[in-house]
Amino acid sequence: MIDRYAVLGNPIAHSKSPFIHQCFAAQTQQTMTYEAICLPLDGFITGIADLHQQGFKGMNVTVPFKFEAFNACESVSERAHIAGAVNTLIRTPTGWQGDNTDGAGLVADLMRLTSTLTGKRILMLGAGGAASGVIKPLLDAKIDQLTIANRTPQKAIELAERAAHLRVNGCGFDVVPNQPYDIIINATAASLSGELPPLKAGWFADAGCLAYDMMYGKEPTIFMRAAKDLGATHIADGLGMLIEQAAEAFFLWRGVRPNTVDIRQEVSSL
Ligand code: NDP
Repeated sequence: MIDRYAVLGNPIAHSKSPFIHQCFAAQTQQTMTYEAICLPLDGFITGIADLHQQGFKGMNVTVPFKFEAFNACESVSERAHIAGAVNTLIRTPTGWQGDNTDGAGLVADLMRLTSTLTGKRILMLGAGGAASGVIKPLLDAKIDQLTIANRTPQKAIELAERAAHLRVNGCGFDVVPNQPYDIIINATAASLSGELPPLKAGWFADAGCLAYDMMYGKEPTIFMRAAKDLGATHIADGLGMLIEQAAEAFFLWRGVRPNTVDIRQEVSSL
């Protein structure tokens, strides 16, 4: 039987993951299928049990199931453990092993844009599933400091506590230190509804400041446009992160690392 993979979410029709993984499979000559599956909001656990029975080899997990996936796994990687969230499921004989490739995806894309993360001061807005997945990989990349700010401050504080690292702080938007940052990441879901987290010009004051929105689209997001107006030197959306996190999941499943440069243009024109 052909190896089957899928992305699970709700909603999921918009997902570019099937196209990306089909490109990777063709490029690396892997015989496999990858489809998008919409699970009922209250049907994640029964859904993944059913897919296991059907013989699926692996799954990506997206909104709103990343936290539920974490609790449903037999075991999880260290980066998934720190995140408390899982975006990649790997089949075991009796269930699923969980990993989180979001952070590796973000770091790979930031490296493409800035060439090094060593010594960078980073402000991350948002403390949801995506934000929690990137903390350990950012620390591993030897950043200087990470401030996590969230609309619900307690979530940012808890995330920072879980990271248990001197250079990671959590807070509410209103108490973010008014200092320049090298990289400002929008990991909130605000852009999805055309909204902005509160931004301060002082954060973007450094020459070379990169404003990165995890969201992506055909046009620059509202966050990217506002950041540019406030003084960001570079702006980027999360398409590169999406492709890179997919490549990392593909590697976990197939043991082959696809070339992500070749498919960027194709994915962005979808
Ligand atoms: P979650 O639902 O887990 O978290 C949402 C976060 O956004 C929370 O911190 C929430 O704050 C905050 N938020 C929501 N609305 C607003 C608003 N109007 N103003 C300020 N803050 C707000 O979502 P994810 O973490 O999974 O996703 C976050 C973003 O990252 C999305 O845009 C998603 O598309 C993108 N993403 C991109 C990926 C990529 O590969 N490029 C991968 C994964 C996600 P609060 O806690 O107060 O509710």
